[in-house]
Formats: sequence, C-alpha cells, structure tokens
Amino acid sequence: MSLFTSVEMAPRDPILGLNEQFGADTNPAKVNLGVGVYFDENGKLPLLQCVIAAERQMMEAPKARGYLPIEGIAAYDKAVQGLVFGADSVVVQGGRVATVQAIGGTGGLKIGADFLKRVNPGATVLISDPSWENHRALFTNAGFQVGSYPYYDAAAKGVNFDAMIGALRSAAAGTVVVLHACCHNPTGYDITPAQWDQVVEAVKSRELVAFLDMAYQGFGDGITEDGAAVQKFLAAGIEFFVSTSFSKSFSLYGERVGALSVVCGSKEDAARVLSQLKIVIRTNYSNPPTHGAQVVATVLTTPELRQMWETELAGMRTRIRQMRTALVERLKAAGVSRDFSFIAQQKGMFSYSGLTKDQMVRLRDEFGVYGVDSGRICVAALNDKNLGYVVDSIAKVL
Ligand code: PMP
Repeated sequence: MSLFTSVEMAPRDPILGLNEQFGADTNPAKVNLGVGVYFDENGKLPLLQCVIAAERQMMEAPKARGYLPIEGIAAYDKAVQGLVFGADSVVVQGGRVATVQAIGGTGGLKIGADFLKRVNPGATVLISDPSWENHRALFTNAGFQVGSYPYYDAAAKGVNFDAMIGALRSAAAGTVVVLHACCHNPTGYDITPAQWDQVVEAVKSRELVAFLDMAYQGFGDGITEDGAAVQKFLAAGIEFFVSTSFSKSFSLYGERVGALSVVCGSKEDAARVLSQLKIVIRTNYSNPPTHGAQVVATVLTTPELRQMWETELAGMRTRIRQMRTALVERLKAAGVSRDFSFIAQQKGMFSYSGLTKDQMVRLRDEFGVYGVDSGRICVAALNDKNLGYVVDSIAKVL
C-alpha cells in the first residue's frame, strides 16, 4: 500500500490545458488567444533591448552568486517603491513602506496573504467577480474564506459599479479587498478615477484592507496613469498592500520578478511589518533569486536604460491599442452587425469579448482560434498576420 494510492488527480489548469490542446492542433492557421502573454507584431515573445543592455552591463562586471538578503536586493526594493509610489512620496521619504522582492506578482500576493493571515486571521477576502483565476485559490490556500464582489456586467459591457461599491460598503471591518490596480484581468474593464475615489472612501470608512494587485503597470494608459489608484490610496492616508509584477512590463515572465509593498502608518510599524514579511519568506523559500531583480534594478536606476524601457513599454501598449481598434474596425468591415466598439475601450492585454461558451468552442474546434470559454481573448496575441483570420472566424460563429 503506497502512501500515494489515495492521492487524487488534481484538475488540470484550464489555461495550460488549452495550451496543450493548441500545441496538438494540426490546423496551420491556428491562433492562440488563450495565453496571458504579450507577443510582438511577429507573434514572438519579445526580449526587450533594455534587458539585453542591462544583462550586458552585468556580464561586464560579473558578480559571485551569494545569498541575497531575505527581503531581496536593496536597490531593487527601492526602485520598486519609486515606481509604485513615487520616490518623493511622503510614505517613501518617511520610511513607511515595507517592500520585499518576491517571486513574481504571484509571490508578492502569497507573501501578503500569509502575512495577513498572521495579523488578521479571521478576515474574509473579497475578490472581483470574475478575477484572475489564481486569486481565489491563493487566498484560500493561505487559510482565508474567499468571497467576491460584483464586477463584470455582461449586459452593460462594463463594470456593475453600483453593485461593486454596495458590496464594499456592506463588508465587515477588516475584510481584505483585492483590487486590480489597472488593466483588469480577465475582463479588460477598469473603473473610472471618480469610481476609484468612491472605492477608497469605502475602504477607509468601512476600515477594509485594500490589496492592490498591480500586474500590468504601463499596459493601460501609461506608467503614471496606471498608478493613479495607488496615489488615491496614498492621499487617503490609509494602510494598504500592493503586489507588483514585472513579468509583462519587462517581458521577464520566466525570471519571476515581483514585489510586495505594505504601506504603514509609521516608520516603526513598517520596520515591524518588514520583520514579519521576512519570517514569511524565510520559512517558505529562505531568500529570493538574484538575476531577474538585478536586471530590473539596473534598468530602473540607469537613466538611459530606464528611458529605453519606457519607450519599449510604450511600444507594447500602443501595439495592443492598435490591435483593439483594428479588431473592432475589421469586424465591422466584415459585415458583423453586433457593436464590438467596447473592445477598443478596454485596457490591458485581455478582452471579455462577449462571445458565448458555445461560440468559443466553435472558434476552437472549427477554426483553431483558441480563447478561454468565458469569452476572454488575449488581444496582445493578435497581429497583422493573424487578425484577418481571427475576424473571419468570429464573423462565422456569430
Ligand atoms: N495578478 C494578475 C491580475 C495577473 O494577471 C497575473 C499574471 N497573469 C499575476 C498577478 C501574476 O503575475 P506573475 O506572473 O508575475 O506571478
């Protein structure tokens, strides 16, 4: 009798399953719109010039690979704070932010979740309905009851903000609210600045704990613009969490570069919080890896490389927007009468296309166009070469 006889087979990750199916598809015209990855105009995963330049610089003065401090590279943590909050912000200047390097944005969320479980063990966590599929599992695995707040309004093709704010206003004090800082995954719909004001007000007055997930800074309207929600929370003078991911913005998916920042009320609080974050890290994986964070720190702190990055990031952002507009226009030109103009208003890599599960299955089975059953497509995987085929295929399943 083996210890493992009774181990159940876990369900496959739905998106990875889709990738496997895509790989096995023999249709030469197949297009993968299921993934959460930015591809360039040639359908390739980009390797940014700023990353190559930073790596070259690092190679010229190679360093031995000792253990990093538990909280990661100091210059990296500082650069993250500058990017997320502003180097001159009161909280950064006052030493009120505890920032640790993390293994991707996922790692930042997990460190935050484990820390919250220590300080706020009875709290409920609320995520948007729908949300990035790992949010629920991650917070559940950290020991929380996870519920949701209304978000997507299929009929209105947007956010059901009245329902969302209503849910936040009736949440119990201490409830952890996970918010997508920009470029909502999976829907592509963000709330407006005025609506953010109401969210911040609800979080403050109801004494909720905001956890901003920032996985796409720079993919929506710009680095500063996409950080506007963080600024609103800062202005409210409350404590909150921000997880950062550089997977997309640096196209460094496999390097696993991210961070967690906790904004505290005082420098003393931040020091104690940092000490606890370090315990969480120490007891999970001891300390983070060196390479990816050194690349990002080098780029962010070297003016020419930083400029290069901002230009390359703007290039990715602009191309996604062009693909959104082109998709809308080409569907119209193909004689599709349904109004798809909302796709051009959505932000970030994803679009809730409004297509039904049956239509998504037909796209996949009959045309080799792979999206998620929910209707989510990755706009960042469209290019001039595959757009026409995708448009024709959508027109045929409508
Ligand atoms: N949050 C959201 C909303 C995401 O979409 C993703 C990645 N798809 C992450 C977090 C995780 O990012 P990372 O790959 O850096 O762990």
